[in-house]
Amino acid sequence: MDGFVPWGFRDAWAGHAVIVKDAPSLSSCRVCSARLARVPFLRFPDLRVTRCVRCGLVHLQRLSQPPDYFAAVLDRFRTDPGGAMEDGHHYLVELVEHHLALSALGGPDLPRRLLDIGCSFGAVVYRARQKGWDAHGVDTNEVAIREGSRFTSGLHAGDCAAQGFPPGSFSAVVMWHVLEHIPEPEQELARVTKLLAPGGKLFLEVPNLASPIAWLLYRRRWLGFETPDHLFAFTARTLLPLIERAGLTVESVSRPVIASEFPGGGGWWGGLKGLARRLAFGILRRLDWGDGLRVISRKDP
Ligand SMILES: [Zn+2]
Repeated sequence: MDGFVPWGFRDAWAGHAVIVKDAPSLSSCRVCSARLARVPFLRFPDLRVTRCVRCGLVHLQRLSQPPDYFAAVLDRFRTDPGGAMEDGHHYLVELVEHHLALSALGGPDLPRRLLDIGCSFGAVVYRARQKGWDAHGVDTNEVAIREGSRFTSGLHAGDCAAQGFPPGSFSAVVMWHVLEHIPEPEQELARVTKLLAPGGKLFLEVPNLASPIAWLLYRRRWLGFETPDHLFAFTARTLLPLIERAGLTVESVSRPVIASEFPGGGGWWGGLKGLARRLAFGILRRLDWGDGLRVISRKDP
């Protein structure tokens, strides 16, 4: 996918990491409190990768202090804000409409209310409002909300819990590459379930550590490891139980290749362009082995 990429921090960050030698290590799982153990195969000088001995959730702890990468993201947005709003992740609104239309066959009509959690500059909200949705977006980044609000209404600074949205008020909640940033993912998913109307759906995507793109090809340069504030690296085995425990029914799971959509991916593999790369990604896509983990789940009536 060409177009606006909100994760455009790579240029600002590359080469500026400062290793913090005495960073205290996280010792227990943020979800189940069991012990965390190092993952032998994934050892990096500036990133500690640990895995919960009970639930298997992989935790990431950065041992370096990257500069404020949002500055680069903001620069990119300000270069062409109108273009960014027009291009950014518009396929998401089509995805939502497609899946809700399928479920609505013979079912009750759901209100066209959408919430994008971690909406950044609000491109999804902008697009959804163009298509007649009463769309809202929340993001803890106040600058992103302020910039985006010049183009669309419905953007709110702060976290989801602070907004006071009434329970059952949304037919669609979008969390696109957001859950891996949230320290208490289980509590956040429980909040999402409350906000969904019966029959409403959660559209969620995170990086997929189980893909060979992550652990074999890109490794430390993989977007799941490279993004400075990722706290977790999910796999289907660790993500799906969280969604189900929140009270949602998983409808579909797919693993798209996202390494080609997001910046990142240096080294010999990242340098491999053109036909070879397209061919390899094509095979991985066909095998459903991509490095994105896309889950659509439903709140049962
Ligand atoms: Zn655990």
